[in-house]
Amino acid sequence: MRRAVGSAVSLRGLLEFSNICSCDCYYCGIRKSAPSLAPESRFTLTEDEILRAAGQCRDAGFGSMTLQSGERTDEHFIRFVEGVLRRIKRETRTSALPRGLGITLCIGEQSREVYRRLYEAGAHRYLLRVETTREELFRRLHPPTQRLEARIKALEAIKESGYQLGTGVMIGIPGQTTDDLAGDIEFFREIDADMIGMGPYLESCGLPDEELASRRIVPETDRGERLTLSLRMIAAVRIALEDVNIAATTALQAISPTGREAGLSYGANVLMPIVTPGQRRSGYQLYRGKPCLDEESEACSSCTPARAARIGRPVTVNGWGDAPHAGVRSVSA
Ligand code: SAH
Repeated sequence: MRRAVGSAVSLRGLLEFSNICSCDCYYCGIRKSAPSLAPESRFTLTEDEILRAAGQCRDAGFGSMTLQSGERTDEHFIRFVEGVLRRIKRETRTSALPRGLGITLCIGEQSREVYRRLYEAGAHRYLLRVETTREELFRRLHPPTQRLEARIKALEAIKESGYQLGTGVMIGIPGQTTDDLAGDIEFFREIDADMIGMGPYLESCGLPDEELASRRIVPETDRGERLTLSLRMIAAVRIALEDVNIAATTALQAISPTGREAGLSYGANVLMPIVTPGQRRSGYQLYRGKPCLDEESEACSSCTPARAARIGRPVTVNGWGDAPHAGVRSVSA
């Protein structure tokens, strides 16, 4: 691993800027029809709030941020995101960061044209998990209108639009086998992913227990087993793909207090401190047991890098932290 990506850990401030979503993924706490989310808990941060979080990432030396939200494809939303991207790129330039913050977008399936527009506006990495590449599992986890084939087409469009491509899966989905996970890794290679974000499958807060059971999407293994399997999957991806970025995700920490450190030890090289304002965090609970819901964003900004330090890993300061796999494309971005 050191040979492929070095020992340094790259940081991206993770801003969950809206929980409004037009999708209905059964495992997700912000799905359109989540009974746990009252209409008044749906939010979109203002442009100024987003810029404030970007400033915080810049000042903390993160060098990069990830903008994540529920999925919306309406023109009003896309224009809003475009405007925000342009402002972040303009307003976060410093002598240490002459091209402004590096930006990863994570706002779901969009059209080819929209991917292009958002790339032009300044995002240069895009994260869209395939969730699982086994058709039957994908169907069990999503309503019939959401299709694996469309997800894969979107991933191809992202790549062709010039972004560094991130994808990933949930690990420990009921019915998922190690063969499935091996197939997922093959898929990562075929799609030529530059970044991988994966985490254990967790109890959804998007559906009542009876419906989780009747849809057969209650986790079948205990948390310890899912943690071990997730860590092994990280190690397998590192060995198979070598020079990609791999995130030690928040979901690992939901399963074990030191899950993210363990992720780094097994081969991950990216951490994403949450910079979402404290009072909005409970509205972005994707799964049960999500950590750091009570924290203020400043707390995560200092706690997360300290996790790398605790296991003796240096953190990159003021860098975009692109994966070596992205090669020349990162230079021209
Ligand atoms: N709308 C954006 C962000 C989705 S939430 C998008 O489509 O990319 C980000 C990720 O959280 C999802 O891709 C999913 O893998 C993960 N997630 C959601 N619910 C989860 C659960 N119950 N267990 C584990 N991971 C979950």
